[in-house]
Amino acid sequence: MKKFSIVIAGGGSTYTPGIVMMLMDNLERFPIRSLKLYDIDEKRQEIIAKAVEIALKKAAPDVKFSYTTDPKEAFTDVDFCMAHIRSGGYPMRELDEKIPLRHGVVGQETCGPGGIAYGMRSIPDIMQLIDYMEAYSPHCWMLNYSNPAAIVAEACRVLRPHAKIINICDMPVGTLRRMSYIVGKTPKELDVCYYGLNHFGWWTSVKGKDGTDYTKQLIDYVSKNGYLTQQAIETQHMDESWQATHKKAADLLAVTPDCLPNTYLKYYLYPDYVTEHSNPDYTRANEVMDGREKKVFGAARSIIEAGRFEGTEFEVDNHAAFIADLARAIAYNTQERMLCIVENKGAISNFDAHAMVEVPCLVGSDGPKPLCQGEIPTFQLGLMQQQAAVERLVVEAYCEHSYQKLWQALTLSKTVPSAKKAREILDDFIKANQDYWPKLD
Ligand code: NAD
Repeated sequence: MKKFSIVIAGGGSTYTPGIVMMLMDNLERFPIRSLKLYDIDEKRQEIIAKAVEIALKKAAPDVKFSYTTDPKEAFTDVDFCMAHIRSGGYPMRELDEKIPLRHGVVGQETCGPGGIAYGMRSIPDIMQLIDYMEAYSPHCWMLNYSNPAAIVAEACRVLRPHAKIINICDMPVGTLRRMSYIVGKTPKELDVCYYGLNHFGWWTSVKGKDGTDYTKQLIDYVSKNGYLTQQAIETQHMDESWQATHKKAADLLAVTPDCLPNTYLKYYLYPDYVTEHSNPDYTRANEVMDGREKKVFGAARSIIEAGRFEGTEFEVDNHAAFIADLARAIAYNTQERMLCIVENKGAISNFDAHAMVEVPCLVGSDGPKPLCQGEIPTFQLGLMQQQAAVERLVVEAYCEHSYQKLWQALTLSKTVPSAKKAREILDDFIKANQDYWPKLD
């Protein structure tokens, strides 16, 4: 059986240890000969890498491990690049969240103005990763789950239309797991119909592989409880702020009672609720810096100090197993059905053929093939047209260095109440992002 060579871009990410542990847990299904970490922040990556190296000596001594900040070394002789970079790091995420909140507008990592600011930073970095991959390992596939996935995916379509990159999101996977608990199945026993943009979509059916339809049961449950479940089911999306988000799904469902909402829709359908419940001095970025970041880097430092891995310091990120599934689908042409972010090309028949949509796809050696979801109702269509135009304007603004188009993007976002507010937020963002964004004219 062929063994694969992997590079993880964003090696210093808080998610790296969990992903590495997950890959080690899946070695029988997806054998690996070499694992490299690549990051632009040498010091941050080194802490994670040294700890991972010790862990791997125990868990998988046959896997060749290395880490580097040199793109040539990182991207030479690799079959898959798993990319989870954060352009600008947590300090810039904090500003993405806090600047709009200062203006009374939703402050979130991927939705609304914060997502637009983050998108403008991520576009050049992801394009650079693609260029490294194509230069040093042209046969390689990039599995990208760096955010904001919607804007990144649109930028890939426009700027690198032939690149072997699949943009994918963990959120529908997490929600499907919650659904599976509600109906007493495992996620692998369920097939879904879903349509939308990334962080902006709806499940229209959830069925067992035997054909049993659970959609009505789930709608009844979610209308009362949201996606809150009794079981503690994952390592991610469990903080208090996420619990409130899962619960809020009941109010999202009330707007479209025949389809199950992605939780991120709360930023678009209830922006007033979100801002009322946000603390402009302490946002999700602060929660993560005080929580996950300290925990993961603390565990890494303990492993390095002890010089050994007990096996419990890093949690296996089982929730990220979809990344191994995706790599397997390409490597072994499994035709597994997965939600991916792809060019519509008629999958949603009454929606823009070129927009990047999130729909179920069959994934094989040629990449994802979208499955037809048919026509969608006027309400969802209207929302999606507005949001897809925002995403397209951001990419156009980036390519043309256009202040006007970025102002239009912010003005069009459903989370922003007026062109005046949009301009004020944009001007603050320009100052905060001068080391990252192109100069806008
Ligand atoms: P993080 O800041 O801990 O890690 C990101 C790493 O990327 C940092 O070490 C940083 O130095 C590095 N980086 C930044 N720009 C880079 C570049 N151009 N090239 C190489 N490395 C670069 O962030 P995090 O919270 O771990 O999130 C990482 C990304 O993964 C984010 O985009 C996040 O939204 C996404 N994400 C992934 C999952 C998942 O399931 N794995 C879940 C949620 C979010």
